Amino acid sequence: MAEYDLIIRNGRIVDGTGTAARDGSVAIRGDRIEAVGEVTGTATREIDARGMVIAPGFIDVHAHDDAAVVRDPRVDFKIMQGVTTDVVGNCGAGVAPANDQFRAAYQANFSGILGEIDLPWSTTAEYFKAVDEAHPACNVAAYIPHGVVRLNVMGMVRRDPTNAELDEMRRLVEDAMTAGAIGMSTGLIYPPGAFTKTEELVELAKVAAKHGGIYTSHIRNEGDHVMDAVGEAIEIGERAGCGVQISHHKSAGPGAIGLTKETLPFIAAARARGVEVTIDVYPYVASSSSLAAMWRIGRGAAFEHVRAIVASVKYNKEKYEGKYIHDIAAELDLPIGEAVEKVLADEENTPSVIMFVMDEADVRRVVEDEHCMVGSDGLPTEGKPHPRLYGTMPRVIQRYVREEGVLTLEEAVRKMTSLPAKKHRLGDRGMLEAGRYADVVVFDAETIADVATYAEPRQYPPGIAWVVVNGQVAVEGGAQTDARAGRMVVRG
Ligand SMILES: [Zn+2]
Repeated sequence: MAEYDLIIRNGRIVDGTGTAARDGSVAIRGDRIEAVGEVTGTATREIDARGMVIAPGFIDVHAHDDAAVVRDPRVDFKIMQGVTTDVVGNCGAGVAPANDQFRAAYQANFSGILGEIDLPWSTTAEYFKAVDEAHPACNVAAYIPHGVVRLNVMGMVRRDPTNAELDEMRRLVEDAMTAGAIGMSTGLIYPPGAFTKTEELVELAKVAAKHGGIYTSHIRNEGDHVMDAVGEAIEIGERAGCGVQISHHKSAGPGAIGLTKETLPFIAAARARGVEVTIDVYPYVASSSSLAAMWRIGRGAAFEHVRAIVASVKYNKEKYEGKYIHDIAAELDLPIGEAVEKVLADEENTPSVIMFVMDEADVRRVVEDEHCMVGSDGLPTEGKPHPRLYGTMPRVIQRYVREEGVLTLEEAVRKMTSLPAKKHRLGDRGMLEAGRYADVVVFDAETIADVATYAEPRQYPPGIAWVVVNGQVAVEGGAQTDARAGRMVVRG
């Protein structure tokens, strides 16, 4: 009888730790890696990885697939780019817990980002169970989203919580942490996060901290006040006593070009005095979010000076989808601001938008930072979503390893595997090592590429031959299989 279930033979092993690649094989039994390096013995199934890299499956540390993993558990856009663990509940947005007040608010506040879904669960634990029962193709880990907690308890109000409300919010965070959430996330540009003061966030982050969770934030300002906003995130971690993750770190908008030259040393200084701050990035110069939210923040001005595309709409696909706002305004013969208002009204405030607001030098500077991980921030919407939904992980290798040479392959893989696994306490994942879970990606380092575009985003990346999730082959010879071996990953 064969000793192993699966052997991936004769590849270049990039084990996720950042150490130099070496030739070797990986042997798997059940859902675990049993041997790495020289592998003797036989397996029921063998994969020839000659000429290819064998790496730990990628961890997408910033995903918005909360609804998608239940509604569309094949999550092809993730598994086909080598992602074996998807981290959801980001930016304060999510789908659980859910009482009637939250269910009523979901459509208006989150469906434009997360997509439509019924919310049959009440507690975070019930949602986690629903994810397991949906059998997604990749693993899922989750934050407890502050915006969801606040909507459950207070609804959409611009005021501080009463003591009783704060206690109830603490209880919901506690509940989620007990169920295995990895920390609490906030989205401080989106209501109700935008209505929330630092004090409230410190109090709730303390509950996450008590369980060893982290505080993750889409910070209050990513433009000319980005330094203040980074400072607030660090302060919350420092006062609550937990690690901090700054989401999709950037400096965005005409007034903010080059500010990452200041934020990165500022973050490094906090780290030097003992605050565990890390960051993540999506490797593109365009952002994507809800059009309604961007409109609220910037009013017309944001769209006058920035190239922006309406990414997905519900009704008038021919008229709006995939088009530049400037072109829509010209067609409608309206000023930019009025054109945006019309799109929002016609589409019940649900469109998502893509905005070209970053400078490549800032993006590169963040990508290169030693403490920076990779998170797609992909929005699993209809229409023409930002190409990061399909191409984030391959793009890091294509662009920053192969084309620009600013990262070694080993370093790029570390950013997408062991670095996020450790920070988010994802248990035995993120490294190729005997005893760990068998989440593996096999790719050609010379051809792996992001081919998704703003015009045609739904394109799978070439160069990824095999993906294994918990020992099951999820991608075989470049095509997705029927395997749906993902699980809810609770805080390790
Ligand atoms: Zn965000």
